[in-house]
Amino acid sequence: MHDAIVVGAGPAGGMAARRIAAAGFRTLVLEKKRVVGEPVQCAEGVSHFGLVSNGLRPSDEWVVQGVRGARCFLPGGSSFTITDLPGYSIDRARFDRWIVQGAVDTGADLRTGTRVTGLARTDRGWRVRADGESFDARVVIGADGPTSLLGRIAGCVTSTDLIRAYEYRFPRGAVAIPEEDRFHLFVAQRYEGGYAWVFPRGDEVNVGAGGHIDAYAATMAFCRERGIDPGRRIATIAGTIPYRFDVRAYALPGFAIAGDAAGVTNPMNGAGIHPGLFTGRHAGACAAASLADEDPDVMLEYDRIVRASPFVDPVLLWAIERFRTWDDGLLDSVGAELDGRSWRDVDLPLALSVLLRKPWLVPRSRSFLRILRALDLCERYGW
Ligand SMILES: Cc1cc2nc3c(=O)[nH]c(=O)nc-3n(C[C@H](O)[C@H](O)[C@H](O)COP(=O)(O)OP(=O)(O)OC[C@H]3O[C@@H](n4cnc5c(N)ncnc54)[C@H](O)[C@@H]3O)c2cc1C
Repeated sequence: MHDAIVVGAGPAGGMAARRIAAAGFRTLVLEKKRVVGEPVQCAEGVSHFGLVSNGLRPSDEWVVQGVRGARCFLPGGSSFTITDLPGYSIDRARFDRWIVQGAVDTGADLRTGTRVTGLARTDRGWRVRADGESFDARVVIGADGPTSLLGRIAGCVTSTDLIRAYEYRFPRGAVAIPEEDRFHLFVAQRYEGGYAWVFPRGDEVNVGAGGHIDAYAATMAFCRERGIDPGRRIATIAGTIPYRFDVRAYALPGFAIAGDAAGVTNPMNGAGIHPGLFTGRHAGACAAASLADEDPDVMLEYDRIVRASPFVDPVLLWAIERFRTWDDGLLDSVGAELDGRSWRDVDLPLALSVLLRKPWLVPRSRSFLRILRALDLCERYGW
C-alpha cells in the first residue's frame, strides 16, 4: 500500500510526485516508457516565468539555449513580436528526468516500463492495475498525457479534441533562422488556427507544424517553402496536444488529473509544459494535504484552483476559435499594421487610424480587443 500513486512521469506527474514525496508520503510513480522522457514529443520551448513560478530554477543540465521571446510571421512576410518575455529551448528528455529524479531523491519509487491499464475504487482509496499487477493507494493522480486513460475511467473527462503536431529536428546550419535567439511562429489560413514553427535550440533547430490539420503534410510543405531539406533531419517528433477537453471534474475525493491528461494546455499556442508544471504542483500539494488530514475530500480544492487559473480562461479558446476563421487577406492586413512592432504597441490612436483607413475592419473591433486580452494572458501565463 502506497500513500499516493502518480501515473505518468512527464512534467505534470513529476511535479506532483515531488510535492507528495517531499511531504514524507510513500509515493509510487508508474511510467510506461522504458526511459523517462524518450522519445521526446515536444518543440522544447518554455518560458522563464513558467519555470520559476513553479519553484524550478533553470539548470545547465537541461537548458540548451536562452531565447528572448517569440515573433509571429504572417503569410505575406510581415511580422510582429508576440512576447519579449525570456525563455529557453530545453532538452525535454533530460528535463522530464530531472523533475522526476527530484521526487526519487526525496523517497518516491519510480517504475518505468509499466503501463497502467485500469483503475478502481477500494474501501481505502484506489487500486491501479498495470501489466497484470495491482497497486493500492489512498490517492491517485492521473498525469498520463493527452490520451489519458485515467481521466476517462474516473469519469472526469467526458470528451477530448486533440490537435496533431509534427516536427523535424535539424542541425542549425540546415535552416535559415530570422533571429537566432527567438522562437518563430508562422500563421496562415491553411494552419486553421495552428501554426508552423522554427525554434532554435543550440546547435540544432526544431521545425514543425501543428493544428487541426495534417501536421506531417504541413511540415513538409513548410520545409519546401523555406528551402529546408527534410533529408537533413536528425530526428522526427510527433504527437498530439489537447485543444478542448470537456472536464466534469479536475478532482474527485482522493483523485486528480493534471497536465495534458486534464486538457490543460493553452489552445492559443499549444504550450503545455508550464500548465503541466502548475497543475502537477497543485495536484501534488492538495494530495499531500489530503493525506495529512486523512480526508480524501481535501483533494477537491484542486478542482477550484484549476478552474480559477488563467490556463482555462475561456477567452483563450474564444480567441483562437475566432482567429481560425481569418483568411490570409485579413491576417496580412493586420500584419501590415504591426510589421516590425509588438502587438503591445496597439493603442487607441493606432487603432483609430487603422479603422479610418480600413473601415471594413470596424465590425471586427470587439474581436480584436478580446484577442488582445488573450495575447496578454498568453504572455503572462501561457508559455
Ligand atoms: C510536437 C509537440 C510539440 C510541443 N511543443 C511544446 C513546446 O514547445 N512548449 C510547450 O510548453 N509545450 C509543447 N508541447 C506540449 C507539451 O509537450 C505537453 O503539453 C506536455 O508534455 C504535458 O506534460 P504532461 O506531464 O501533462 O504530459 P506528458 O509529457 O505527455 O507525460 C505523460 C506521461 O505519462 C505516460 N503515460 C501515458 N499513459 C500511460 C499509462 N497508461 N501508464 C503509464 N504511463 C503512461 C507517458 O509515457 C508520459 O511520459 C508540444 C507537444 C507536441 C506533441
